[in-house]
Amino acid sequence: MKSIKLLFFMLFFGQLGFSGQLQVVATYGYIGDIAQRIGKDKVEVVSLARGDYNPHIIIPKPSYIAKMRKADLLIINGGQLEIGWLPQIIKQANNGAVQPGERGFLDLSMHVHLIDVPTSVSRELGDVHPEGNPHFFMDPDNIPIVAKAITERLSELDPDNQAFYEENNKEFYALWQQKMKTWEEKLKPFKGVKVVEYHKIFDYFLDRFGFVIAGTIEPLPGIPPTTKHIADVEKLIDREKVQFILQDVYNPQDAALYLSKKLNIKLLILPHDVGAVKEADNVFSVFDEIVRRLTNG
Ligand SMILES: [Zn+2]
Repeated sequence: MKSIKLLFFMLFFGQLGFSGQLQVVATYGYIGDIAQRIGKDKVEVVSLARGDYNPHIIIPKPSYIAKMRKADLLIINGGQLEIGWLPQIIKQANNGAVQPGERGFLDLSMHVHLIDVPTSVSRELGDVHPEGNPHFFMDPDNIPIVAKAITERLSELDPDNQAFYEENNKEFYALWQQKMKTWEEKLKPFKGVKVVEYHKIFDYFLDRFGFVIAGTIEPLPGIPPTTKHIADVEKLIDREKVQFILQDVYNPQDAALYLSKKLNIKLLILPHDVGAVKEADNVFSVFDEIVRRLTNG
């Protein structure tokens, strides 16, 4: 009898422990980090994509399907950033709770303003930003918006802990605003500074702090440069008095290195997500590190 009671006890609390902690799957590290800061011990968060990989081209691992299968909430960046790798995982996991349109599916791009949305329906061949620039995470002002959307969704799925999530969000917001002041202060001297970037991945950041994007090494997002295009960028850098070439951690660096050497301008490799470089191990330090690299450059 005693052992049966114990069994019931274990089952009951085992059950509580399971359903009490929301299982959250985030596509990228930055999303996972924010979800963890809002949900704390009430959530178990896994982030799928490695931060030092091209976010457009993630190679899915079989373990992703297992994680998706037991998820209560799937949070995606959206704006077609995951289009090349996520749909097949969602399909194979066959978890009704996290299908698009369900409460267990949160698309963050629906909560922010996307830039570079094409006005014409005809998409140029191969452009990986057909719905606009999906790298909105790079605008630090979008982070509190994302955190609020996550807070609301966690509260909806787990209303008993709504006050807890809201309190954590408030705390996060206050810390973020403090950091914003520091970043703004440090980047003040960079207003109007012209840069060239490899992929259109830092646009939100550059716009936010008043840099001028003179051009990109990719002729179109996702399309590698031709010799002719590199020659055009070379002329542009010279003509426009570009001060920095900015490059992500995952694209080939040969064109940027060539231009940097030839024209004697600084090439900076910047993180684009949590885990892109070892110093950028959370959502705060991604921006700390970008600012540090820019101001040291
Ligand atoms: Zn992109």
